[in-house]
Amino acid sequence: MAKRDYYDILGISKGASAAEIKKAYRKMAVKYHPDKNPDDKAAEEKFKEAAEAYEVLSDPDKKARFDQFGHQAFEGGGGFGGGGMNMDDIFSQFGDIFGGGGGFGGFGGGQRQRVMKGSNLRIRVKLTLEEIATGVEKKVKVKRKMQAKGVTYKTCSVCNGQGQVTRVTNTILGRMQTAAPCNTCGGTGQTIDNRPPNSDSQGFVVEEETVSIKIPAGVVDGMQLKVTGKGNAAPGNGISGDLLVAITEETHPTLQREGDNLHYDLYVSLPDAILGSSIEIETVTGKVRLKIEAGVQSGKILRLRGKGIPNVNGYSRGDLLVHINVWTPKTLSKEQKTFFEKMKSDEHFSPKPESSDKSFFEKVKDMFS
Ligand SMILES: [Zn+2]
Repeated sequence: MAKRDYYDILGISKGASAAEIKKAYRKMAVKYHPDKNPDDKAAEEKFKEAAEAYEVLSDPDKKARFDQFGHQAFEGGGGFGGGGMNMDDIFSQFGDIFGGGGGFGGFGGGQRQRVMKGSNLRIRVKLTLEEIATGVEKKVKVKRKMQAKGVTYKTCSVCNGQGQVTRVTNTILGRMQTAAPCNTCGGTGQTIDNRPPNSDSQGFVVEEETVSIKIPAGVVDGMQLKVTGKGNAAPGNGISGDLLVAITEETHPTLQREGDNLHYDLYVSLPDAILGSSIEIETVTGKVRLKIEAGVQSGKILRLRGKGIPNVNGYSRGDLLVHINVWTPKTLSKEQKTFFEKMKSDEHFSPKPESSDKSFFEKVKDMFS
């Protein structure tokens, strides 16, 4: 379909002045404005067409090009591709035309039917490191506001269920509409019809419900999970809010968490450190037997791969880092004392760190590399 001449669209002649172009466009904008022609596609097209014509003819440069080349001046980029101007562009243009820009709202802004959602509930769940390591299902009791038995709601007669009321104001463009939340129903679009005596002003009663929460492995202290629809109810045919679950991690008596890794301080007796041993330790997933090599040094870190916490995203699993501490007794029997007195002069007991006995800082560096 051939495009109409911009002058024809605005109903003016080629020699029209800038003031005449503006005046003509105002007239068209008022006549075809979507607020005045709801659901009228033809009017909307005319409205857009007029806006496009004005966009060109109000710009001296574009007007000169249009006067010389017609619509071809704007083909192949630069101009209005296919669909012409969008509504936002047109409304933003109004500030220039009408001054102040008030009066018009967006297009169809207040017409959408809103679904009312109840308020959220918040609880805190305490988890042990063992529960976090495996994931757990927790049953919690929550007190939810529910629609009382026998309560009925009706569509708000003030806003007709829209949750908004439209106010008509007079502007230079004629009668214009603005939307505001409805005070009668509090924006819910529903008012109470039959309220059972035990319910509150919104027709709610508080009910205790046991909610089951599936907690995935690897959650972190402070993390928040959402159980959809287990919050407070909404009036009428609204939907319930959510139950927000904040995770708290209990302090573990022997294990310390660092991200997905766990740290464990293992105390080894002097004889075990000297002679070597096999020691059973408790991890988050059960007991593990560790081999302590003869001559192990205090400060050595044994890494047990995959014995940490699974990553909450499910991609990997942390390690358990066992820190060796050789336990030195504070008191000795007379014989023991005599033995160690003798060893003082024994060359065998004097420290001779080898390159393999890395310093603490080197070990820490290795741990994170
Ligand atoms: Zn209302």
